[in-house]
Amino acid sequence: MMVIEDSAKPAHKRERTCAGCGEKADAAGFVRLVLGPACEIAVDAAGGGFGRGAHVHGRFACIAKACRGGLSRAFKAQVQANAEALAIEVSAAFLRRADGLLLAARRAGATAQGADEARAALASGAPLVVVAVDAASVVQRSEIARAIAEGRACAWSTKSELGRMLGREEVAVCAVTDARMAAAIVRAVSTADGARSGVRVDATSESGLQVSSMIRLADSRSTKSDRGEGAEQTPSAEQFVRRSGEEDR
Ligand SMILES: [Zn+2]
Repeated sequence: MMVIEDSAKPAHKRERTCAGCGEKADAAGFVRLVLGPACEIAVDAAGGGFGRGAHVHGRFACIAKACRGGLSRAFKAQVQANAEALAIEVSAAFLRRADGLLLAARRAGATAQGADEARAALASGAPLVVVAVDAASVVQRSEIARAIAEGRACAWSTKSELGRMLGREEVAVCAVTDARMAAAIVRAVSTADGARSGVRVDATSESGLQVSSMIRLADSRSTKSDRGEGAEQTPSAEQFVRRSGEEDR
């Protein structure tokens, strides 16, 4: 009689080891890298690509450490990789994935683009709002500002780039109504941010990397009560846009 053990586990529940820091965790928390035929490294942002794989946390420190030997060990091959170039590649791959997920959400009818539609979707519980980094006027509207304050927002791309994806000339803001798709978009954008957070700014702009920014304001809100202060810890909507814009330089 055959006994099926590990193979019966779903792929996303399998434990993997970071090629940088050596920590073990669920595969879903890692960036998967694959080795091409000429020992070149490709980023498998969707996580299901063929080829020998290695896993690394989506943060620059782990990517840099992996480039100093961890990847060669993981791939059992001599791999030459530049940490900054790989981090930029990881970041770009995850922004492309975020684009793809947003397109898929639109095709599935799970987006509400435009300020009025997005506000209505948020009011009825949409889990995420995507804000273009150059959309200062829109984030001042109360529902969208509240979504940002609640950490239900992420920003990447410009109005014209979002418009191109969503079939309009310009889209400043777009709500995502499907929880699973919203979570996947948030993960892709935060991985993109984490990977390039230690990269020199000039290296980032040389690569033509798109701007991205995750907003994690829920954390800053929880520290407010710890300090016993009524002072506003949560950045305003305008600060949010300014910050996102700063990362462009
Ligand atoms: Zn790590």
